[in-house]
Amino acid sequence: MAEKLQPIRGTHDILPLSFGGEFEHFHTVVTLARDLAVLYGFKEISTPIFEMTDVFSRSMGETSDVVSKEMFTFDTRGGESVTLRPEFTAGISRAFISNGLQQHLPLKLFSTGPVFRYERPQKGRQRQFHQVNFEWIGDASVEADAEAILLAGHIIYTLAGNKGCTLLINTLGDIESRTTYRDALVNYLTPHTASLSEDSQRRLVANPLRILDSKSEQDKAITANAPKITDYLSAASKDRFEKLCALLKDSHFIAKLEISSSLVRGLDYYTDTVFEFVAETGELGAQNTVLAGGRYDGLVEQMGGKPTPSVGFAAGVERLMLLAGASALTPPKLKINIIPFEEIVPKATFELAGNLRVQLQHLLNKTHLRVPCTVEIAWQGSVKKRMERAAKNEATHVVIVSPDEMSRGTCLIKTMKTGAQEEVPLAELIDGIALQKRFFTSYE
Ligand code: ATP
Ligand code: MG
Repeated sequence: MAEKLQPIRGTHDILPLSFGGEFEHFHTVVTLARDLAVLYGFKEISTPIFEMTDVFSRSMGETSDVVSKEMFTFDTRGGESVTLRPEFTAGISRAFISNGLQQHLPLKLFSTGPVFRYERPQKGRQRQFHQVNFEWIGDASVEADAEAILLAGHIIYTLAGNKGCTLLINTLGDIESRTTYRDALVNYLTPHTASLSEDSQRRLVANPLRILDSKSEQDKAITANAPKITDYLSAASKDRFEKLCALLKDSHFIAKLEISSSLVRGLDYYTDTVFEFVAETGELGAQNTVLAGGRYDGLVEQMGGKPTPSVGFAAGVERLMLLAGASALTPPKLKINIIPFEEIVPKATFELAGNLRVQLQHLLNKTHLRVPCTVEIAWQGSVKKRMERAAKNEATHVVIVSPDEMSRGTCLIKTMKTGAQEEVPLAELIDGIALQKRFFTSYE
C-alpha cells in the first residue's frame, strides 16, 4: 500500500464541529471581525497570497525575525523569488500603490485570510495561520490611532468580555526622538555586547531597537535596565502620546491599559504608536499576544508611493479563538428534521419541507439573523430509528408528519432540548411571523 500522505508540519485542517473540528468557531471570529469592520467604515479587499519577495523584505526590514528566519520563499519556474505572505500590511500597501488608491484617501481597509511563517509549531503558533487585518490609510491624526485601537478593543471585548486582556501601548516617537534614543541605547548596550545573544549582537549594529523585542532571557535581563524611549521623546511626540493615552483611558472596550516602554514590535516600518493586546492567563500560554499593530507613516513612501501616514493592526484568528473559548463561539443553529410516516405521499412532505425552507430563507434575509438553518427530510428506516438518528445528528426540532395529524391539517413539532411536543397547524409553516416566534425568539 502507498505510504499515507501527511499534512505539512504546522498546518491543520479546519473541520466542522460535528467531526471534532472547529470550523464554526473560526467562522464566528472572522464574521465578527468583518461585521465590526463594516460598522467602523472599513471596506474589504483581498490581495494575493504571495507577492514578490521584495514586497516583504524591503518593508518589514531585513533584520526582522520574520524576514530573516520565518518566510516561505521560493523561486518560480521563471526564476523570480516569491514569498507566501507572512502578514498583510506590506501586500496591502503594495496593492494601494498598484491600484492608484491615493485618490480615495483616507481609506479604511479590512482583509482576512491565511498567513505563513516558518516557525516552531506549538499551541497558538502555526506555520499556516489566519489573520484579520485592519488598515487605516492616509490619516495622520492621533484620533485615528485611538479609534483604531478602540476598534481592536471592541473585537476583543465582544469575544472575551473584560476577562483579561491588557492593552500594552508605547510610542517609538518621530525620527528625531528615535535617533536620540538609538544613540542612548547603543551607549548602554555596547559594554554588554559579549553577554548579548548572537542575534542581538548583530542587531546592535543593524537595528539596536529590535533588541528590546528579543525573546532571549539573557537579552531580557540586560534590557531590563536599558534607557526608555519615553525619556527621549521630542516635545511633539510626547504630546501626541499623552493625547493618545488620554483618549483611550476609561474606555468601555479596554479592560486594562499599560504603558510598556519595551514594546517596540518586530518590524521596521512602525513609527509613533505601537500596541498589543495581551491575554493574561489561560489557554494561550506563552503565545499570549492576540492582536498587534501600530502606526506606519513611512511605509507607503518607502515602497515607492507618495507619503501616506497610516495606522493598522492584525489579530491571529486561532489565538482569538483560544481567547474566547469554545462556548462563547458556538453559534446557535436551527436544525429541523422532518420525519414522514410511510403512509404519507412523498410529494406532501416535499411541499411541507419546501414551505419551511422558503419561509426560513425569507426570514434570514429579512432579519439578517446569522443562524445556520437546515431543513432535512429523513426517509429511511423506522420512525423510531429516524428519531434516534435526528437526536444523534443534533437536530434542534423534529417535525413528525403522520396520517392522523395530516387529516387534521396539522403536524407534530418536537423541541429536542426540552422534549416538548406540540401539534401545530400546517398553516403555521407558511407564516413567517409564526415561524420566527417559534424558532428564533431565543436568538434575538
Ligand atoms: P509573536 O510575538 O507571538 O511571534 P508576532 O509579533 O510575530 O507574534 P505579529 O506579526 O504582530 O505577531 O502578528 C499579529 C498577530 O498574528 C499576533 O498577535 C498573533 O495573534 C498572530 N500570530 C503571529 N504569528 C502566529 C503564528 N505563527 N501562529 C498563529 N498566530 C500567529
Ligand atoms: Mg512572531
